[in-house]
Amino acid sequence: RQYTKDEIHKMAKEENVRFLRLMFTDLFGMIKNVEVPVSQLDKLLDNKLMFDGSSIDGFVRIEESDMYLYPDLSTWMVFPWGNEHGKIARVICEVYTPDGKPFEGDPRNNLIRVLKEMREAGYTDFNIGPEPEFFLFKLDPETGKPTTDLNDKGSYFDLAPMDLGENCRRDIVLELENMGFDVEASHHEVAPGQHEIDFKYADALAAADNIQTFKLVVKTVARKYNLHATFMPKPLDGINGSGMHLNMSLFHNKGNAFYDEKNDLQLSQEAYWFLGGLLKHARSFTAVCDPLVNSYKRLVPGFEAPVYVAWSGSNRSPLIRVPSSRGLSTRLEVRSVDPSANPYMAIATVLEAGLDGIRNKIEPPKSIDRNIYRMNEQERKDSHIEDLPSTLHNALKAFEADDVMKKALGPHIYQSFLEAKRLEWASYRQEVTQWERDQYLDQY
Ligand code: GLN
Ligand code: MG
Ligand code: MG
Ligand code: MG
Repeated sequence: RQYTKDEIHKMAKEENVRFLRLMFTDLFGMIKNVEVPVSQLDKLLDNKLMFDGSSIDGFVRIEESDMYLYPDLSTWMVFPWGNEHGKIARVICEVYTPDGKPFEGDPRNNLIRVLKEMREAGYTDFNIGPEPEFFLFKLDPETGKPTTDLNDKGSYFDLAPMDLGENCRRDIVLELENMGFDVEASHHEVAPGQHEIDFKYADALAAADNIQTFKLVVKTVARKYNLHATFMPKPLDGINGSGMHLNMSLFHNKGNAFYDEKNDLQLSQEAYWFLGGLLKHARSFTAVCDPLVNSYKRLVPGFEAPVYVAWSGSNRSPLIRVPSSRGLSTRLEVRSVDPSANPYMAIATVLEAGLDGIRNKIEPPKSIDRNIYRMNEQERKDSHIEDLPSTLHNALKAFEADDVMKKALGPHIYQSFLEAKRLEWASYRQEVTQWERDQYLDQY
């Protein structure tokens, strides 16, 4: 809800708010905070609050370091956990330049821009329902640092006492509900120590904000249980990694643009084109949706994560799935995305890819309803099934060659992201790992 300035003043007073946490997100998905005492509230509400943008990775050059934070008043929220100094309210902000323009390097501004273009193309909403997964690891009682000891041995839909994370997860769900989240499901995932919490879809911008808040809540509550919650995509080899499947639907004033009662599979022509666009740009948006060196350790066969560029209405592990619900809930589920992705950027890239499909009437290839993992290379070739990138390096090459990605992120974010990720890859490829020593030291 869009609060007025008066309402914000009133709520701050009634709830005894002492500090304002002004949040925004950098290119790497990190939540950044500027915290000010509540005495600065008027200044904030007048868009007069300044901060030094040069200290944020990938933001600005030193000579243009002054930036302003414009609060989005619909995101005002008082944290349920106060401290001895009083309560803290947070508000998500857009970063503006001193001459009053939305800063192009702010991923949230960028998503706002892409959504505006979507509206100009005749659509009203792009809804996103995320399925974030995460692991809970024990904290070392001596150092307080995260270990790689899992806190339970449970598996999919297990119940206590196997699932020791259950109390922690319940507490997370309660805290989320306190903060206005509509939690639809929460369950133990396939791997030990792994959990999933699904909350209700929202329009793209609110969904991205929710994902960021969600991660903060999960981490904060886990700490209370002496656990470390991680959204790292593949913390341990040999067991499932963590994904963040994105369910998406596009709306126009006549309702869900993906639904057509009369059509094949009851999917509209636009749904097929959107799907065509997603598949065409899948290799390049992978760089953004799976942005870490580690992300590619998840995208391997055998762990329910996608490896090939294909879609299906029935199969559960392709890149894109069409869940069975129709009517208003007709949607596409993109399953490659992992929770380390910057949600504003990830959503901007999948939306732009889908819109490109609609604009250029891109027909998707035929759906693959048999198990791709049982097909050999020739069979995959005959069915025109490409591989998803196997490394960050390969993903970046596809990303670099795709102008639609530049359109999705704008030149500033596109370039800074590419440069930063190339450095990350360069640093990784110099590393000699224990795996290599185990394999080669003796033998050669
Ligand atoms: N953990 C799987 C992934 O990496 C998903 C498992 C599931 O939700 N079915 O995407
Ligand atoms: Mg799920
Ligand atoms: Mg899951
Ligand atoms: Mg799913």
